[in-house]
Amino acid sequence: MALETLPLLTDRYQRRIENLRISVTDRCDLRCFYCMPEDVEWLPRKALMSFEEIERVARLAVAAGTRRLRLTGGEPLLRKDLPRLISKLAAIPGLQDLALTSNATQLERLAPSLVQAGLRRVNVSLDSLDAENFHSLTRRDVHAQVMAGIDAADAAGLRPLSINCVVVRDRNDHEAVDFARLARERGFDVRFIEFMPLEHGSHWGTDVMVPGKELLERIGEVFPLQPDPDQDPHAPSRDWVFADGAPGSVGFIDSVTEPFCSMCNRIRLTADGKIRTCLFSLREHDLLGAVRAGADDEAVTDLLHAAVATKEKKHHITDGMYVKPDRTMSQIGG
Ligand code: SAM
Ligand code: SF4
Repeated sequence: MALETLPLLTDRYQRRIENLRISVTDRCDLRCFYCMPEDVEWLPRKALMSFEEIERVARLAVAAGTRRLRLTGGEPLLRKDLPRLISKLAAIPGLQDLALTSNATQLERLAPSLVQAGLRRVNVSLDSLDAENFHSLTRRDVHAQVMAGIDAADAAGLRPLSINCVVVRDRNDHEAVDFARLARERGFDVRFIEFMPLEHGSHWGTDVMVPGKELLERIGEVFPLQPDPDQDPHAPSRDWVFADGAPGSVGFIDSVTEPFCSMCNRIRLTADGKIRTCLFSLREHDLLGAVRAGADDEAVTDLLHAAVATKEKKHHITDGMYVKPDRTMSQIGG
């Protein structure tokens, strides 16, 4: 079929795929206990998609209807020359949003060049406001460096600035109100993420997963909240603003207790070029293999459509049918 006559990327359940998350590396300088083991074998360099390969796939995905790209990893800022990739992607016609998810360890150094390359906003992962607790959760003693990275992103105008916090009972749930205070003081959008069973080892359980509803109640008792009038219906988080008009917001990504699968409009591309149609997919589609075997633009687009056609209806975390994927979040590209 000629490219221009292909329908937009839409799956069997009429979900239009508008978001593509691209992992640019599986490497990371932190070892968040819920994401990675201490010792990891990295993908060989040649297994990673080159910037040219990433740009080509992204351009074809945008031509097929994707509107938003987000770079992730591993830690995306560990990929050498990332601003060069950002400027290639920012120039794709039809792209509406280009964002990055980062642990912020390298942001102090890189924020200005990322902005110059065309990045507009960033999500920073931060699980504790306390240096010691941060060290215990991430197994690295770099809290000050991360906070300096957040300040640099803010100063460089990377806004809105979202802070993603994975909440684990008895490890950091006692900090929820402090995070809400940070949101108010700095005008940040803090998003609390339910811990998902995608970790290395077996740390997950319903006993350590803190439902977003519980955090909403705890925060609302201290800082009254009201639903965000600008809520994006397709966003995975349910967002709340402060009733007293303070800046910033809090949001809850309740992937386990309130799955948003029926609204999910994203697919993922792993650092080694595999399409995953769901975080929890048990199968992948080898796009990079096809690209390197010489697939032309039409064939790559067909492969994107074929992958999207297999997108899973929903995840099975809570219905007893859950099978944990072989890859952890850092390898999938969260
Ligand atoms: N290194 C970058 C970072 O931490 O922002 C990008 C990759 S990281 C895999 C992307 C997001 O996935 C982070 O916000 C992280 O907290 C989240 N994540 C990792 N493992 C998770 C899990 N088991 N459950 C919920 N979120 C998880
Ligand atoms: Fe690294 Fe991000 Fe995973 Fe933490 S969550 S280990 S920063 S990839």
